[in-house]
Amino acid sequence: MAVERTLSIIKPDATRRNLTGKINQRFEDKGLRIIAQKRLALSRAQAEQFYAVHRERGFFNDLVKFMTSGPVVVQVLEGDNAVAANREIMGATNPANAAPGTIRKDFAESIEANSVHGSDSADNARAEIAFFFSGIELCP
Ligand code: GDP
Repeated sequence: MAVERTLSIIKPDATRRNLTGKINQRFEDKGLRIIAQKRLALSRAQAEQFYAVHRERGFFNDLVKFMTSGPVVVQVLEGDNAVAANREIMGATNPANAAPGTIRKDFAESIEANSVHGSDSADNARAEIAFFFSGIELCP
């Protein structure tokens, strides 16, 4: 299995409820290592740029408003097949469809306030990691 890195975001609904530690425990219990992490407040421009792929979607403005409504924790997770592994740990976008034991099933408030983001491909992971972290912040 290939060791990969993926970008994770603990979203404002989860930081508001002080769930960072509980969510990080899920990653570590499933064998992913948190190799970089920082808490920050996204500006509107940063949130719009990060979610630019969804610009034409009806929920885009609400999503940007939500992602700037409080602090987020951005992090790089590393492990075997980290991109797919993290998507499995997160669960489906809509918590109503998420499998038991996933972060979104257990913690998400709604399809929008769904507690975590995770890259959906290795290429997007590379781009999303570079969006938030400089080389000096990442262990080789
Ligand atoms: P993800 O890869 O599972 O996060 O899902 P997407 O890339 O499709 O969507 C990005 C984010 O937009 C989701 O995680 C939600 O926070 C939000 N989102 C997705 N679909 C909807 C929707 O139908 N309504 C609203 N309000 N937000 C949505």
